[in-house]
Amino acid sequence: MIQTDLIIIGAGPGGYEIAAREAAAGRGVVLIERDALGGTCLNRGCIPTKCLCASAGAILETAHAADLGLKLGSVEADYTRAAERMREIVAGLRDDVTALTAKCTVVKGEARIGADGTVIVGQESYSAPKVLIATGSKPAVLPVPGAELAMTSDDFLQLDTLPASVVVIGGGVIGLEFASIMAAFGVEVTVIEYCKEILPPFDREVAKRLRSMISRRGVKFVVGAAVTGIESTDNGSRRVSYEGKKGVESIESEAVLMAVGRRPVVPDGLAEAGIEVDQRGRIVTDEHMQTTRPGFYAVGDCNGRMMLAHAAAAQAEVALGQDVNLKVIPSAVFCEPEAAMVGITTEQAEAQGINFKTAKALFGANGKARAMGHADGIVKVVYDPESRLLLGCHIVGPHAADLVAEAALAIAAGHTVDYLGHSLVHGHPTLSEVVRAAVLAAR
Ligand code: FAD
Repeated sequence: MIQTDLIIIGAGPGGYEIAAREAAAGRGVVLIERDALGGTCLNRGCIPTKCLCASAGAILETAHAADLGLKLGSVEADYTRAAERMREIVAGLRDDVTALTAKCTVVKGEARIGADGTVIVGQESYSAPKVLIATGSKPAVLPVPGAELAMTSDDFLQLDTLPASVVVIGGGVIGLEFASIMAAFGVEVTVIEYCKEILPPFDREVAKRLRSMISRRGVKFVVGAAVTGIESTDNGSRRVSYEGKKGVESIESEAVLMAVGRRPVVPDGLAEAGIEVDQRGRIVTDEHMQTTRPGFYAVGDCNGRMMLAHAAAAQAEVALGQDVNLKVIPSAVFCEPEAAMVGITTEQAEAQGINFKTAKALFGANGKARAMGHADGIVKVVYDPESRLLLGCHIVGPHAADLVAEAALAIAAGHTVDYLGHSLVHGHPTLSEVVRAAVLAAR
């Protein structure tokens, strides 16, 4: 039995960041990982997709290069090189995580929890006053006939060349990012979404506008449709059947990407150790991220609270006793254009009976956006008309994911729309002036 101060199971963002910090502070940390350091985020999620988004963005820029005064001649997209670049960047960042966690005892293997609260890897067992479970998640698969004919995001990121046409099942964050990337590389893309609108957690107006903007790039959308099955056709392609407004229909494509959310991954032995899991397989935690067994904490995707890398890292800090505001967590979809949100949506405000008003500004009126040639989009703010506090900010347009940080700070710090619009000076010409214009429109 090896005794230490802190055991962390899983080296994704929920695990490795806090592991490195605690080890640097002189505490004994055992970090257990069965696969590659960096977890889903670095190896199969945030980073590889953002590399491909950057390639897609460069291709899309060439479409208006002539307008900007650049004669390019013929332009050819090369997905094989884009995929290679993605792998090079991921490998480089993985080396950085190895260096970052150098002061931890990194154990390679599958961890399970013993009934006595020890953590077992192969023949060795470990014990510590604090154990952090950060075992992440895996792609969910629809229980429909032929589901095995579809790729998951993990499979997609292994490709070196792209199919000519793809049906994406699921118009959420992951589905839209892949749809946006593939469309830029010339793939014929159709997205099928079960809900009436794409991006269910986002503001409906922003989601609708985003759908229309991506549609203009040639991506087809079928919303309010339930996929009922996938078949192989005689010519080797796939036929996806769905039930929508017009009854049962089908679409053929060379490949299918299943992007219908993610399911928590948990280590073996939880029940015997007294660690409760809910009906959806998520580890039950309190506000300190403690599980139903004292001393055991669960952070990140495995507790299902918010499946985002920065949420996982923030929850790990809470588990270690840090004061972190988990109520204000921005989220973004990195398609072209980007969309981002923080705080509450109008739909949530209505459902919760919160007194609210909204105000908006368009990127079209912003000098920097016009100069960049990316003047399409909107910033919408939700605020309390009495206290004037900013409650939510929803953006679709260039650099939305970066722009939303200002609103996140304002909400977390309890700033009013008036403070943000009048007291805080914004640089000129910057895209942040669109956020200012939106709060100035709050009357
Ligand atoms: P993970 O990153 O999944 O890490 C868990 C680790 O635990 C894994 O390495 C796994 O091998 C290991 N493990 C599991 N069980 C055991 C065991 N028993 N023993 C030892 N090791 C074990 N989030 C964002 O915030 N921004 C984005 O842009 C973004 N893009 C994404 C794009 C895609 C395609 C996907 C799939 C996800 C994306 N996400 C994004 C989500 C993000 O990747 C996750 O929220 C984040 O990785 C969760 O971190 P985690 O530490 O909880 O788990």
